[in-house]
Amino acid sequence: PASCPRSEELFARARKVMPGGNTRTTVFIDPFPIYAERGEGCRMWDVDGNVYYDCINNFTAMIHGYAQPEAVAAVQGQLPLGTAFGAPTQSEIDLAELLVARLPSVEQIRFANSGTEAVMMAIKAARAFTDRPKIVKIEGAYHGSYDFAEVSLDSSPQNWGDMPASTAYAKGTPQGVLSDVIVVPFNDIEALKAVFHVHGWEIAGVLIDPMPNRAGLIPARRDYLEALVETAHAAGALVIFDEVISFRLGYAGAQGLWNIAPDLTALGKIIGGGFPVGAVAGRAEIMAVFDPTRGKPALPHGGTFTANPVTMRAGLAAMGALTSKAFAHLDYLGAFLRDGTNAAFERHGLSGRCVGLGSLFRIHFTGNDIVDYRSVYPSATERRKLNLLHRGLLDRGVLSASYGLFALSTPMTDAEPSSQPSMTR
Ligand code: PMP
Repeated sequence: PASCPRSEELFARARKVMPGGNTRTTVFIDPFPIYAERGEGCRMWDVDGNVYYDCINNFTAMIHGYAQPEAVAAVQGQLPLGTAFGAPTQSEIDLAELLVARLPSVEQIRFANSGTEAVMMAIKAARAFTDRPKIVKIEGAYHGSYDFAEVSLDSSPQNWGDMPASTAYAKGTPQGVLSDVIVVPFNDIEALKAVFHVHGWEIAGVLIDPMPNRAGLIPARRDYLEALVETAHAAGALVIFDEVISFRLGYAGAQGLWNIAPDLTALGKIIGGGFPVGAVAGRAEIMAVFDPTRGKPALPHGGTFTANPVTMRAGLAAMGALTSKAFAHLDYLGAFLRDGTNAAFERHGLSGRCVGLGSLFRIHFTGNDIVDYRSVYPSATERRKLNLLHRGLLDRGVLSASYGLFALSTPMTDAEPSSQPSMTR
């Protein structure tokens, strides 16, 4: 953006006390990130007074934008009463009841503090329930930073064989982790069946995000998900949906849109109303691995700040405001932007496409058919275009993710951002 001297100054301070000045890899922008000062509705102001139309919404979590009045009131009510106790509170039951009522596949739920932890607990629950070691995941799909969930996250063309390899994401990942994760290509029924044919007996579960963002933000085919559930169940393995992001696709999440019932679901982001959160949810028979009422559970799980009443009350307020009408509004805006962007690509004869569903979309500068992680893996030129798009939007006061992801919020309307206030206050 035009002018960011305060952000640059803050980054210089941050560099001394944080590695690379950074405490969250995803928010780094070269040469320095823009520091946020405040947000309201669908806008964010930086420390230099520039205002942005926020199309990333804290990487999809802030579905109502900033300072949603209901969430603010709920949190203000809780703060003077104490923020976290060594005891449960009613607030966790209130939010659990709302989520159980919305998700037909879910009978019971257990809270956590992040999506990473939710996915980790879901994988551990599948292992504990089946007493098997391996999980299957989709090539290039992001599920947070549990070692097992990270496998294959950034596999690159040099290790693309016929079948995806179990590649490490972080340096130092133990070989044992890699050998307990089987990676499959997205939307490929035959490949999945072949894996189960050989390894079915040792697979605890299949982890899948029905619309994996980093693998391209292309929806799973319905017949693929049906075959996946059937294949996994035939082998005695569980199906885990990662709906940390995709829960924002509809009133009953992605599983509601596809009408498919996973055994376990990992949740996060929007269910915390802007506060740190995660949850693992599913059928009572499986969730029983966490039950401490008959002695040590099969899978013990704690967490000092788990289900703290600030998060729970903010989450209840945010989820309560996510009515069917709110989703219809988000769907309308998403389609409006995807159609408009695709029409612009066409009109200007550019190779590229806008994909996604509901309130989420991604721009890919590829002429390929967009089918999976490999088909959207950007060439050096495409990377440069994504970078230029990101910068160009920032200069025009629009926030997005550097890799081309956009997430809308309920306060947005189809009149914006042409009604955008000026760049500086
Ligand atoms: N799963 C998915 C699909 C995600 O997108 C993310 C985070 N972006 C996570 C899990 C991890 O969530 P968190 O950042 O809250 O740990």
